[in-house]
Amino acid sequence: MAFCTEFAGLRPSPADVRVVTSDGSAISAHSSVLAAASPVLEQMIMHARDADCTVRILGTSSGAVVAFLRFLYSHPRKTDDAAAEEEDAHGAALLALAHAYRVPWLKRRAEEAAAARLTADRAVDAAKLAALCDAPRLRMACARLAGKDLDARKERWVRERASQHVYRQLSDAMALLDRVYTQGSSCAGDGRELEEEAEASPRDDSSVRRGVDQLVRHLAACGRARNPACPRCRRAVQLLRLHAALCDRADEPCRVPLCSNLKAKMQEEGVDKTWRLLVKKVTRARVMSTLSNREVPEIVKRSWAKYSSRRTARLR
Ligand SMILES: [Zn+2]
Ligand SMILES: [Zn+2]
Repeated sequence: MAFCTEFAGLRPSPADVRVVTSDGSAISAHSSVLAAASPVLEQMIMHARDADCTVRILGTSSGAVVAFLRFLYSHPRKTDDAAAEEEDAHGAALLALAHAYRVPWLKRRAEEAAAARLTADRAVDAAKLAALCDAPRLRMACARLAGKDLDARKERWVRERASQHVYRQLSDAMALLDRVYTQGSSCAGDGRELEEEAEASPRDDSSVRRGVDQLVRHLAACGRARNPACPRCRRAVQLLRLHAALCDRADEPCRVPLCSNLKAKMQEEGVDKTWRLLVKKVTRARVMSTLSNREVPEIVKRSWAKYSSRRTARLR
């Protein structure tokens, strides 16, 4: 059992109260200070029956109780580094103790400190504490933080949706390139196959078809070797490079333009982290697209219809 005499020397009169904490530690203190600061402690001291006037402050750590008593001995407006450290270390416990032992000035101060130090990961616990301790300022701070967090989540969700759409379009463009160059005749570079394919595949996104068509047509007409600085040629080559990164055709040579050259170049020079991430995300979009376009087996359709009709009947 630890015995703390930190407060015994702070007054000329001898310490006449023994504060006992949850772990059995004892702290010597002055009844006049505790009674003046807290009406609850005053009642506990008045009703203490043992000779050394023992008061039990339980339910929190000894460190938090020492910090609480230190605040009761100090001036209510005193602010220094030590006080800020105590608030950092025992903020929630100080608020709970100030509420339970009815020390309004300390409760206000602890509430302000807790609100100022509030972070998203502590918000739920802080909201529970605010409800338990009837701390409206802290409750408001939690609500404001939750609102901000919700806005940030919404923004993130919108951004993610937008980028998913881009990956899906790139995946569609890769599928289109694959179909046109590998299922038809070899491409002469005038984009006619792309147009024909676009008409034959009404499920595809027409904007993707148009974009790929225009880029491949441009690449054939402009010629990257003649004009390496052309942004449209660069975009077309990036598209073909993405195809080369995803292309796993091993049984026969790939007929997509520059595929084998770009594959060899990537193997020789390597690729950076951003490119690897792009390839990974487009691959994932392709898998998701395949799964969503897959024909549902008849037996699954029938069991879903059965389940839905039973569920509807139960809800009526
Ligand atoms: Zn060009
Ligand atoms: Zn290929």
